[in-house]
Amino acid sequence: MPIKIIIEKCNGCQLCIPACPYGAIGMEGDKAVLFESCVHCGICIDSCPLGAIIEVSESGETVQKTISFSNILVIGETDKAGITKLSREILGKAREFADVVGVSVWLIFFASDENLAKEAINLGADEVLLLEGINTTSYKIASIVKAISGIIEQKRPEIIFAGETILGCDVMPRIAQRFATGILSGCTGIEIDAVDRALSCTRPFFGRRIMGITSCTQHRPQLIMIKEGIFREGGQYKGRTGNIEIIKL
Ligand code: SF4
Ligand code: SF4
Repeated sequence: MPIKIIIEKCNGCQLCIPACPYGAIGMEGDKAVLFESCVHCGICIDSCPLGAIIEVSESGETVQKTISFSNILVIGETDKAGITKLSREILGKAREFADVVGVSVWLIFFASDENLAKEAINLGADEVLLLEGINTTSYKIASIVKAISGIIEQKRPEIIFAGETILGCDVMPRIAQRFATGILSGCTGIEIDAVDRALSCTRPFFGRRIMGITSCTQHRPQLIMIKEGIFREGGQYKGRTGNIEIIKL
């Protein structure tokens, strides 16, 4: 649906500019303007503190709808033995948080194996997205980032978990840059606020001399990277049901 900036409301703060992954917002004088490259994804709507960015219908009428972020997305990884230990641990924590705040867990695999998807559902995923057509071994990072970005734009997860692996360390900073948000990493513990769903990450600083808490309160989605062994694997819920979606890229 088309996007519009209400010029009278815009105070020129420019907060919306980095929020657009397509570089489709600029300034004309002290007012924000949309460029033709806008794809009407709506991601910038929440970035405007004054509500100056809105959706309009094709006929130009205002649509009173705020696009908001919700649910938890896990970027899953597999090896020859199946779902990696780290992805199982992350899935367990994602399930725990989803139950606390009452949202769903989505999981991405770069594989078209439905048995893996069923196992992930037993481990706590509500929806598994099998991305076909991307070979992570040949490692085309741009196509992986593009695929994940497309899913974020479509599904708008509020929290995105990935492992502190080669894949995670390559993908997450690019996603953070694209969506103008922050990454929590190096965590030894995380908590979620049941009201505003903000994550608090406990982590060591200055060569482990002090422990501090980091969080990402102002931007969504919240990105968080986890090392193996920080959390325990979640339980198996045999016979659990969920959706499996195959996405051809
Ligand atoms: S975030 Fe999406 S809707 Fe907003 S200006 Fe950029 S492309 Fe357009
Ligand atoms: S965030 Fe809102 S008020 Fe600030 S420049 Fe963008 S449209 Fe204008």
